[in-house]
Amino acid sequence: MNIKVSEPCLTGLERKYLTEAFDSGFISGAGSFVSRLESEFAAFCGVGHSTTVSNGTVALHVAIRALGLSAGDEVIVPNFNGIYGVYALLYEGIIPVPVDADRDTWNIDVTNLESKINSKTKAIMMVHMYGNPCDYDEILEIAKRHNLYIIEDAAEAHGASYKSRKIGSLGDMSSFSFYANKIITSGEGGIVLSNSCELIDRVRKLKNQGFPLSGVRDFIFDEISYNYRYTNLQAAIACAQLERILEILSERDEIRNRYQKILSHTEGISFQKIRPYSKSVNWMTCILVDEYVYGHSRNDLEFYLASNGVETRRLFVGMNRQPVLKRYSTEMHMDDCIFPTSDYLADNGLYLPTYNTMEQTHISYICELIDRYKS
Ligand SMILES: *Cc1c(COP(=O)(O)O)cnc(C)c1O
Repeated sequence: MNIKVSEPCLTGLERKYLTEAFDSGFISGAGSFVSRLESEFAAFCGVGHSTTVSNGTVALHVAIRALGLSAGDEVIVPNFNGIYGVYALLYEGIIPVPVDADRDTWNIDVTNLESKINSKTKAIMMVHMYGNPCDYDEILEIAKRHNLYIIEDAAEAHGASYKSRKIGSLGDMSSFSFYANKIITSGEGGIVLSNSCELIDRVRKLKNQGFPLSGVRDFIFDEISYNYRYTNLQAAIACAQLERILEILSERDEIRNRYQKILSHTEGISFQKIRPYSKSVNWMTCILVDEYVYGHSRNDLEFYLASNGVETRRLFVGMNRQPVLKRYSTEMHMDDCIFPTSDYLADNGLYLPTYNTMEQTHISYICELIDRYKS
């Protein structure tokens, strides 16, 4: 057995559309697949406007620029998080202020959030961890009370929903990634969404080297901008993926249900919890290993699975433990803070192979190994 932790699933019209894009001669930022993806993905999320970019990290960067946040501003971020949104803030000299995770959902702990807000705070960045929606109503209430923007990093959550509203439609601006291991992919890629046409027009200009959206291309520029364009070749692949996203999502649900059902008999293994009114998309099937009940540590289990041909990954490591952020510790208000939940997740969590082309027998094999190893 050799089971990878993630694999893209390109078994639909991806190749056909890619060839069409190739043959059209539109292989850079313009082309019919780019505009088609932008309108179809926005419609899928129930959001008015969108524009594609090169990846999910720069999507956050241009969203932050479009909102007009600037050096010295503070933005509340989840401590337990991929670091990418934090990078995006630091590109602009904006201070990310981390808040620990909720022990059940692993998303930002809303009971802890308000104490980190001060007069410099301008926004809250919500990240739906592993596809599990954040506690949006509570976050919205706090944001309203303090007049803060909500930026939604939905890179792991295509198709998820909160109280029947689609993820990606909740924030002032939201972003997704189309990296190879995400719910839908085009290899690399990203998209920014908003109901504000002005904000998306800002992103369109910023991502395209500052060229004006209309008028004569006279090579006169008025602000420092980027080349964050997405290509029509990539969009062709993403369009094919989006066509079967519902099928992809239901397969992922099945994968999680199968893992949970079989592993419910294995003491010491637990799962991320989903609020009853949320629909998570199971980006990755994550488990926590309770060393004292299970009889082995996460590291031992990781090694045991690897030696039996099963690739896994550890969960994210909190911002409080990132060497790259050490020198910002005081500015980020982290000096006297502890982040016990993030630390626990980082030390005891693992994600199991989760991808659409996975076979049922793979899941039973992995669960059997986990159960057999328990002592
Ligand atoms: C993957 C990911 C990103 C970054 O997306 P890229 O396309 O890899 O740049 C940002 N935020 C989260 C939460 C992610 O999982």
